[in-house]
Amino acid sequence: MVPVLTVERGFIGVGGLCLLLLIEQVWPFRRPVESRRRRYAINFFITGSNTLLLSILLGGLLVSAYHSLELQRFGLLQRLGIGDWPNVLLTVAWLDAVTYWWHRAYHGLPLMWRMHRVHHSDRDLDVTTSGRFHLTEMALSALFRLGVIALWGPLVSAVVIFEIVFGLFNQLEHANIQLPQRLDRRLRAVFVTPAMHRVHHSEVPEHTNSNYSTIFSWWDRLFGTYRAIPEQGALVIGLPEYPRSEDVTLGKVLAMPFGPPCEAAQPAQDPRLAVSLAK
Ligand SMILES: [Zn+2]
Repeated sequence: MVPVLTVERGFIGVGGLCLLLLIEQVWPFRRPVESRRRRYAINFFITGSNTLLLSILLGGLLVSAYHSLELQRFGLLQRLGIGDWPNVLLTVAWLDAVTYWWHRAYHGLPLMWRMHRVHHSDRDLDVTTSGRFHLTEMALSALFRLGVIALWGPLVSAVVIFEIVFGLFNQLEHANIQLPQRLDRRLRAVFVTPAMHRVHHSEVPEHTNSNYSTIFSWWDRLFGTYRAIPEQGALVIGLPEYPRSEDVTLGKVLAMPFGPPCEAAQPAQDPRLAVSLAK
């Protein structure tokens, strides 16, 4: 979510998007409930305007801040003198763990949920959803991660590698595709798959409040938020408070963080439901 702007990252991001868009057209998993053209227009507008505005507003600041932090040898890894590859591996794992908890904060705190519900209000799930975040969420996350990186002290290249891996997983896990079950199960032991993340976009609160990880699935397993739903055809994607197309027009989506007060997506209280859905 942090816009570390490199040409390579841009090309890889566009390449991943195009490839997954193509696969979704040929082997889609779910039939859309919304007009695809309409959703694409909304999601691409949000993704494109975010990229442009964040580049103008924060891109230069973040890149120069990362470089100056590296030069000043500030942060834990810099102080410890960790080698290049351990620096990269630890940085990818650490930033993914921090993002897991940051994602939980977006679900748990009402003010942050106002921003994050833009992402969850999409009534279908495909690779275009991976860029559907409100500008306020993108900017807040970028500044938060800058603080985390300052304290952590990674190489700039390690941050860029994290951004590339994170971006690709973000695209893959939102894609409207289904991996062969056995492959999905094996991958899910370590990584987040589309089937695992699809549960997070279900309109059932217990589902929404599970499977927060982006790269490594073990954060959800470790912190008790992992949920497997083998039968995914019946999942309803979106949020119960925005059940119709007219609830998620471009104007309404952009105004969502400033709209009427909302409740944070708290787990529902019915324990029978939780038991029946747990694997
Ligand atoms: Zn979420």
